[in-house]
Amino acid sequence: MNILVLNCGSSSLKFQIIETDLDLIDKNADVQKAKGVIERIGSQALITLQAAGKPSMKQATPLRDHRAALDYLLRWIVSPEAHIPGIESLGDLHAVGHRVVHGAEKFTRSLIITDEVIRGIEDCIELAPLHNPANLKGIYAARELLGVGVPQAAVFDTSFHSTMPETSYLYALPYQLYRRHKIRRYGFHGTSHRYVAFRYRQLTGKSKEETNIITIHLGNGCSACAVKNGDSYNTSMGLTPLEGLVMGTRGGDMDPSILEFLAHKEGMSLSEIDTMLNKQSGLLGISGLTNDMRDLLAEEHEHQDRRAKLALDIFCLRVKKYIGAYLAEMGGADAVVFTGGIGENSPPIRQRVCSGLGFLGINIDEQLNKEMYGGKEGEIGAKGSGMKTFVLPTNEELLIARDTVRCVKNAPRRW
Ligand code: ADP
Repeated sequence: MNILVLNCGSSSLKFQIIETDLDLIDKNADVQKAKGVIERIGSQALITLQAAGKPSMKQATPLRDHRAALDYLLRWIVSPEAHIPGIESLGDLHAVGHRVVHGAEKFTRSLIITDEVIRGIEDCIELAPLHNPANLKGIYAARELLGVGVPQAAVFDTSFHSTMPETSYLYALPYQLYRRHKIRRYGFHGTSHRYVAFRYRQLTGKSKEETNIITIHLGNGCSACAVKNGDSYNTSMGLTPLEGLVMGTRGGDMDPSILEFLAHKEGMSLSEIDTMLNKQSGLLGISGLTNDMRDLLAEEHEHQDRRAKLALDIFCLRVKKYIGAYLAEMGGADAVVFTGGIGENSPPIRQRVCSGLGFLGINIDEQLNKEMYGGKEGEIGAKGSGMKTFVLPTNEELLIARDTVRCVKNAPRRW
């Protein structure tokens, strides 16, 4: 089956076309046929499209909304110019898989989108006011342009974490707030944590029950996950993706009293504080320079910038803290797995996170670590270490495509 995977943001649409099926999943032989992104939807959109094995094409054209963006994309997909093998007409797109950010307690697994599912995703909007409406726009547009005959599946960022016990997901707030408003930790990046946990199992030959690892997703957003017996046991993001690790522009954990203090001292409104916490904090906030890890590492290296170093030190220390916390919660683990743009590509950050953790059995092999970037996967731990350390590139789109096939064919999820 050719699956169109869509990931719609407030002004962007990322896509991939992946050929997969139950037998291809078993053989790990799925084929990525095209990928791309449309940014700045709503004005002069920037479009990058690439059919597999061909150079990417960049274009700019005004696109009013997500429907117009998807329409543009579908026209390209079937054009002779794209020339995607096995896709000549829209009928060759067999299903659509959507990334949906928040599924709250309602959605604990991927499923086929019906009117009822759409209403459920709408109900979750108040928990993810920036993300779920954009995901819904993609769903409405695909229904309209491809027709209701083409099945669509929703794959939720939160659903992998639905196995967390109450002790992990409840905040120590008055319990009735959970009852009344479902205020609790939900966790995000679930598709990524689930994918790398599965990949770890494939590479090591472990059963689900034997999978006790800590997965660390470091990208623009960052989160850690304690995977116990193959399920999410705890994770660092909370009610929203603001909690936990230091990220590009989000600060992660902090004393909530800072909010009131700031409102008083700086005369900021709650919405201004929210913007500051989401967009002006984290690596950007501490360094005052950038949220981009590559640029920050270059500033530290080339100009010995004090605040760039400070931002990096705080970033790495926070990851270390979560590794320690999760090892204590899980009673030990077999491996630490790095993923995400930073986790996959930055040997110095992995080195800094793991330094001094020899007493836990975490020792990195300097040479293996240095050589592991740019999509490579494997172990970077020194031989004989008590715990293994892996770099496993994430592939959320692949997991969305595979889940879509499983939903369409009503096949059980096996991890
Ligand atoms: P997103 O979370 O938006 O999917 P990514 O997972 O692509 O983002 O991660 C983006 C981050 O990865 C940026 O901070 C970028 O600087 C960082 N990154 C990418 N390549 C490297 C590299 N070679 N070294 C260090 N950081 C990198």
